[in-house]
Amino acid sequence: MATRLFIDGQWAEAGGASIPTLDPATGRVIEEVGTASRADVDAAVAAARRALTAPAWRGLPPVKRAALLFRLADLIDRHHEELAALETRDQGQPIGISRQVSVTGAAEHFRYFAGWVTKIQGTTNPVSFPDTLHYTRREPVGVNALITPWNFPLMILAWKLAPALATGNTVVIKPSEVTPLTSIRLVELVREAGIPDGVVNLVTGDGAVGAMLSEHPGVDHLSYTGSTAVGRLITAASAASNLKRLTLELGGKAPSIIAADADVDAAVAGNLAGSTLNSGQVCAAYTRFFVDRKREQEFVEKMAAGLGALRLGPGSDESTQLGPLVSARHRDHVDALVRTGRAEGADLVTGGGPLDGDGYFYRPTLFAGVTDDMTIMREEIFGPVLAVTSYDGEDELIGRANDTEYGLAATVWTNDIRTAQVYADGIRAGAVFVNMPPIPDMTAPWGGYKASGWGREMGPWAIDAYTETKSVWLHYGRPA
Ligand code: NAD
Repeated sequence: MATRLFIDGQWAEAGGASIPTLDPATGRVIEEVGTASRADVDAAVAAARRALTAPAWRGLPPVKRAALLFRLADLIDRHHEELAALETRDQGQPIGISRQVSVTGAAEHFRYFAGWVTKIQGTTNPVSFPDTLHYTRREPVGVNALITPWNFPLMILAWKLAPALATGNTVVIKPSEVTPLTSIRLVELVREAGIPDGVVNLVTGDGAVGAMLSEHPGVDHLSYTGSTAVGRLITAASAASNLKRLTLELGGKAPSIIAADADVDAAVAGNLAGSTLNSGQVCAAYTRFFVDRKREQEFVEKMAAGLGALRLGPGSDESTQLGPLVSARHRDHVDALVRTGRAEGADLVTGGGPLDGDGYFYRPTLFAGVTDDMTIMREEIFGPVLAVTSYDGEDELIGRANDTEYGLAATVWTNDIRTAQVYADGIRAGAVFVNMPPIPDMTAPWGGYKASGWGREMGPWAIDAYTETKSVWLHYGRPA
């Protein structure tokens, strides 16, 4: 039997055909997943609309809403190992990553935003109109569609669900059809935590289900993480329907600059982590390496050695450092881009193809001698594929690093504070990391410039994303 949908507090059969979700380490089917029909999507949106103003949710004192989020965080902790194993099975990521990044990260997000619930404030404002009190209120934006990708399904859902609930919204979740299982399990925990019926709804299925939500007039805000191509479709659907508010976390092609004075060993260690975490299936992964010409050879040799030493294997094996790619389709996409890199004349230093046998494993791959116009330097690959080029001077470099449609993250490796600040200032990206891998944190804003997205998640910026600011004018002048 296929997995079910969660609508208005009930588990319900999906109206559409089911889709199998596979274990990327073996290629075997784990479970059949139901596909929502348009009627199912309409029912989920209607349930979310009703719940928005129901006394059980709207009337809940903030301190009690916070308690529900703390309880959900505790339930995630209680099911930590089970959720980590499920994420690894469905997504492929090494179990250590599932534990520390995905499951712990999700619980921490709910706890952090539980703390916000009782601290969301308005302002009073000194308007010029006489005898008038002016104040602002933060109100929930309404019904939110949360559409998530397959790279960190549980954690990215937490990035959206925690602030949405903290601010009193209701949601319809649409996880990726490739990795829906931890989202389904999280919704079971939402129910166990006692979050009222209709506040959290779940519809599963492929992009067609996501499209139904993006064009739905009953959705007030859609928070999406995924590819830039689908981000454009969602934007067009929003424009053609009700101009719903959008938060878009899209693709990336992060530059990593290794300055002449960098500690190359530290840069190699940090860049290995920053480029191969989750097999490079990370939107902020470092993929375009600009190395000062004087350090290029040393960097290439040491990175190639580091990549070659990574242990590939199933995520469930505790010693695995690099798991499989998420699907056969994605492995073929990565491989096609690697072939293009070779065809366009980049020097393949290590890796360059999939592993034989079951599962969707791909050898970590390093290209040197890459030029700025090559496809592997321009397109998001979303796999363990690194492209190295060199530079001669700071002045040319900022323009080259910015020569991309993306602007999610960037990194600089230097011990010179002036160099660090010159790049932190000049690079057009939502996050610039100095001497460290691209690690998000719930207290710091996350989001992109340019085609990497709109808006910011995390911290107080997420509170903004999920609230409307209402302006209230109260005239108390006596009638003449
Ligand atoms: P994807 O765009 O294929 O799918 C993401 C989600 O969108 C899935 O749930 C999918 O079913 C849904 N979808 C597909 N077509 C749709 C449509 N027409 N309308 C509405 N929804 C639709 O992305 P993916 O392959 O799952 O994820 C990888 C991408 O996500 C990469 O580009 C990566 O950079 C990006 N990403 C970005 C961030 C960030 O924070 N900026 C984080 C993680 C991943």
